[in-house]
Parts: sequence; C-alpha cells; structure tokens
Amino acid sequence: MGGATVRGMAGGEGAPDDAGCRILHIDMDAFYASVEIRDRREIASRPVIVAHTMGRGVVLSANYVARGFGVRSAMPASRAQRLCPHAIFIPPRHELYSAVSKEVMAIFQAVTPHVEPLSLDEAFLDVSGATRRLGSPAAIGQLIRRQVAEQLDITCSVGVAPSKFVAKLASVHCKPDGLLVVPAGQVLDFLHPLPVSALWGVGERTGAALARLGLRTVGDLAKAPVSTLEHELGKAAAAHLSALAWGRDERKVVPDSPDKSIGAEETFATDIGDSEVIKRELLRLAGRTARGLRSSGCTAKTISIKLRKADFTTITRSRTLREPTDVAQRIYAVASELYLASGLASGTLLRLVGVRATGLAKAAGGGTQLRLDERPDSWRKAETAMDKIASRFGSSAVTQGTLLPPEDRRNPRRD
Ligand SMILES: [Mg+2]
Repeated sequence: MGGATVRGMAGGEGAPDDAGCRILHIDMDAFYASVEIRDRREIASRPVIVAHTMGRGVVLSANYVARGFGVRSAMPASRAQRLCPHAIFIPPRHELYSAVSKEVMAIFQAVTPHVEPLSLDEAFLDVSGATRRLGSPAAIGQLIRRQVAEQLDITCSVGVAPSKFVAKLASVHCKPDGLLVVPAGQVLDFLHPLPVSALWGVGERTGAALARLGLRTVGDLAKAPVSTLEHELGKAAAAHLSALAWGRDERKVVPDSPDKSIGAEETFATDIGDSEVIKRELLRLAGRTARGLRSSGCTAKTISIKLRKADFTTITRSRTLREPTDVAQRIYAVASELYLASGLASGTLLRLVGVRATGLAKAAGGGTQLRLDERPDSWRKAETAMDKIASRFGSSAVTQGTLLPPEDRRNPRRD
C-alpha cells in the first residue's frame, strides 16, 4: 500500500472523524489486472490490459498505468491497442478471479456476516456490529485493506459513510489504494460539488436531460424544484435522484452469502430493447451461472432472472425446477421463458439483465443425479468438457456459436 491515501473529509493528520459511518464499500483496484500482475511482478510498471484481442473483445480490466493512456474498462480491445500499442494484453482467467474473489469475501466475512457482494471484487459491509470488537469503522476499513494487501497481494479502496451510495462514491473518489471517510455531518459537502453523473441512475440520457435544465452538479440537482425534475424525468426518477442529492439513502446492507446463490448479471453500455439480443445475453449469463454451479459442486433448484428497465425499475421472476440442475441449457431455457413471460420482451429498453440460481444443494457424484435407466445427459457432458478446456485456455476458448454476442452492446459500465 505504498501510495495509500487515507483521509477524512477535513484532511489533516490522525484518525478521521467517522461519526455516523456504519457502511463500508470495498472495491478491489483494477481487480483482474491486479491478480495477473501479482503473478508477474516484472510487468507491474507497464500498462497491463485484461482482454481478448481476437474478434470484438472488450477491455475487462486495465491497470492504472494503462488508464494513464486513456484505456478504460468496457472499451473495445482494438481501441485500447491503438491508444496503448505497447501494453501487455492478457486473456482473462475467470476461474482464477473467482478463486481470489472467494478469498476476498472470506476476509470480509471474518469482520461481519453483514456483507452484500455486488460483484466478484466489491461489496458493502455494515460494520455496526463489529466496532466493539475491531474498532471504529475507519479502523476496520484499514484493517481490511491491510489484510487484502498482505494475504492476497492486491490493493483495494474503501469508502466509509453513513449510507450505501455515499460509501460507494467515497471509494470511487479515493481510488486506487485509498480510504475515504465521509462522516454524517459532511455528506452534503462531499456530494454537492460532484457532477450529476456520479449519482446512481444518471446515465447518458438522464445526464442530457439534466444538462438541458442547466443542472451540472449534485448540488444543482438538490436545489432544483422537484416539480421541474418530475416534468423532465418522471416521478419515480425525480424522487430517486432528489433523495440521493440530499444524501438520503435508507437501503440496508442485505447479506447475500455467495454460497447461497450463484449468478451473473450484466449492465449494458447502452440500453437494449431487442429481445434476440437480450436472449443471447441470458444464454451467456446462464453459461456463467452453470459454470459457477459446477465449479462449486452444486446444483440449483430455483432459477431467477432480474430485468432492470432504463428508468431503473427492476423486476425479478423465478421458477422452481422439478429436478435441480447445473446445466446451462436448462438454466437458459427457464431464463428465456421467464423473460418472454415478463411483459418486457416486446422492445422494453433494459439496462441490466441477470440470471441467478438458488436453492443450492451439493451435487451428489459431482453433478446432476442420473437414474440408472437414464441416458447420460449429453448437455452436461459437453458442458463439463468445456469447463475443462476453459480452465486451461480461458473461457472464451469455448464459445458456442449463439454465445457470440455483439460485444459493444454488453460492455459493463464500470470496472
Ligand atoms: Mg473493482
């Protein structure tokens, strides 16, 4: 943690004021790239980009040296190559990142069971039950940063705040390798100078609408009459953004043990309404979910999908299967039926889709049980074979024809 920045809002020396801060948002810095670099220290000072460079690959992760050349996550790899031709490109090793992710989550779980993972490399923690044992929220943030650095040899950034969204903004603000505390009394001082795009829910379109109203900062948004916002954005979005602009976010940390559900989701770079494209995405996510199930030796009884519309309203639909499964084709069949039945399959613009498997049980004999009179499940056999190839050559080495997505549409919006 050489260049670590640890600070409170007021700056200065000593322990930062963390009054009212119970939430930590912890995010690994350039996660995939950092994991690759720790195995090859000699490349640490060079631009390192995790991406497939064949076809229409996108940048999955870039270290901060590469970012200095303008390289960003979700950018087409071809563009990254033009921006930074001397960068080291490394094909992703998803199984390795999942394994490191498990170790990251174990460090969090040792602090508190109130951990809400957001992705492989980031989570919210509610540390209010851990302070007597481990010290103030800021001290706990430092403890976790030290453990991640010492045990996993990567760095992370921690936002410490009274609410989830402020904690998340704080961790973004102190990246990389930092910790920022935003105490209750200084939330508005922190929020109001930020650009409106910093708020959850402000994408390109909302940002353009706000710009038309002359609202550029969160402070501008806070002071705008709600009726004006409603007129431009609709009631739900106006209320949502106005609350955030005043630092109001009552959402609790919802513990979601990574062992109790396995899934994958994708936020699109631009909202998508084409149901064929959405189904292709569901197929890809079903594949990731099935791989996750098989690698943890589990089968799932319930499959659910999550669909988030452009205006941020989110629906989930789920179905319980007669036979538990760990097979992508089965998961996809259910996911696509749920999607087609959701009422959103006729062109509704979506910003995120997800597939999740719950009702997990350890698979006897390492997978779906076969009765003696049953033919071996050919899908499962094929998929297990693909797992083996993927673990040796990276998961894109085995991509079914229909799994080839229009890369530019499925770029994650953030790292
Ligand atoms: Mg990260």
